[in-house]
Amino acid sequence: MTTTDPTAAATVADLEAEASALDAADPLRHHRDAFVGAESSLVYFDGNSLGRPPRASVERLAAFAREEWGGRLIRGWDESWMELPFRIGDTIGRAVIGAAPGQTVVGDSTTVLLYKLVRAAFDAQHAADPARVEIVVDRDNFPTDRYLVDGIARERGGRVRWIDVDLSTGVTEEALRAAVGPSTAVVLLSHVAYRSGYLADAAAFTEVIHDAGALVVWDLCHSAGSVPVKADAWGFDLAVGCTYKYLNGGPGSPAFAYVAARHQDALAQPIQGWMGTADVFAMGPDYRPAEGMRRFLSGTPPIVGMIAMQDTLALIEEAGIDAVRAKSIALTEFAAKVSDALLAPLGVSIASPRDAALRGGHITLSHPTMRAVTARLWTEDVIPDYRDPDGLRIGLSPLSTSFAETLAGLRAVRDAVTELG
Ligand SMILES: *Cc1c(COP(=O)(O)O)cnc(C)c1O
Repeated sequence: MTTTDPTAAATVADLEAEASALDAADPLRHHRDAFVGAESSLVYFDGNSLGRPPRASVERLAAFAREEWGGRLIRGWDESWMELPFRIGDTIGRAVIGAAPGQTVVGDSTTVLLYKLVRAAFDAQHAADPARVEIVVDRDNFPTDRYLVDGIARERGGRVRWIDVDLSTGVTEEALRAAVGPSTAVVLLSHVAYRSGYLADAAAFTEVIHDAGALVVWDLCHSAGSVPVKADAWGFDLAVGCTYKYLNGGPGSPAFAYVAARHQDALAQPIQGWMGTADVFAMGPDYRPAEGMRRFLSGTPPIVGMIAMQDTLALIEEAGIDAVRAKSIALTEFAAKVSDALLAPLGVSIASPRDAALRGGHITLSHPTMRAVTARLWTEDVIPDYRDPDGLRIGLSPLSTSFAETLAGLRAVRDAVTELG
């Protein structure tokens, strides 16, 4: 191989120079040092599954245990905890999903919040028009999304309408148009596909769904914190998103729910608990749902779990979600280029959209050895994850990942595929 042939694929030396230049020019590069472990040589490609902890969160959690929980004890509920799900919800609305205040709350897990919102939407639609009996979801949506839709359809006497998709892309507008109509109650879609990273045109898809008279529930798990979302401007009805992925809330941190103001008082969610009532401490004989977002809560909010995410939300507000997205695109473009140069000759292909405008914050690399490659890499402190059928998922969390880290990790992938291939 020669470096003077302009048609030759980039060499490792070229790529190293490019990674250094990209890191040096990256306006967000200093944020990486805000994360625990940034100083080590470990390569982390899984920030889209469980984000790294911000250093500030370590102190925030300790201070919470010591001063708030330990010092204020049960007074903490009156002093701040009762309002925390709404306060952090509004911050997520402002910094991450383009929602005006009073429409976002931190609640239960993604699974439970999706269940509550999909069922509330189904029931409202079906009550208004008994012909609306279908819940539309795609066959490649995240397992929990498919399972809970199936359960709701059975429980409410409805049915699921499945959209077939290509695993290396996602739901197309044509496929969506063909699936919705006068029998559709609600559609559940992922903004960014968890396997391929395909980025749906959420504004256009929402319009298609509304034209059919249906409601949409957007799953924002893989976009919240990496891809800008404009929930209000794009006309969303409902949405749910993860906080332990790009928002670095820690393992099992609770999800957030968005309900457009115009729908809030008309929706009844199925887990009628005391924390969702109009006067929580009246402890009255009957459930009377609160106005506004409180009605989407059920039991005691998981306060400990929502402490850490505040640090990443502050970082995103400081950096701006558009700058986060710009870095995310630069990272996935660079990863695709490295893959073309170093991995394509070994038979590795990219099972993600090539066009950055159609791609979220990760890319998936496909090769028959990837299950074994993942196991090998984890023992070497290079941490991607594996998704069937043969995908190595490279998650590039924009605030905590560098270009040099990306190159180092993909070089390790090359070595592992070479040895195991
Ligand atoms: C991560 C993820 C979930 C996770 O749901 P949990 O209830 O937090 O386990 C759901 N949907 C999608 C699309 C995801 O990526």
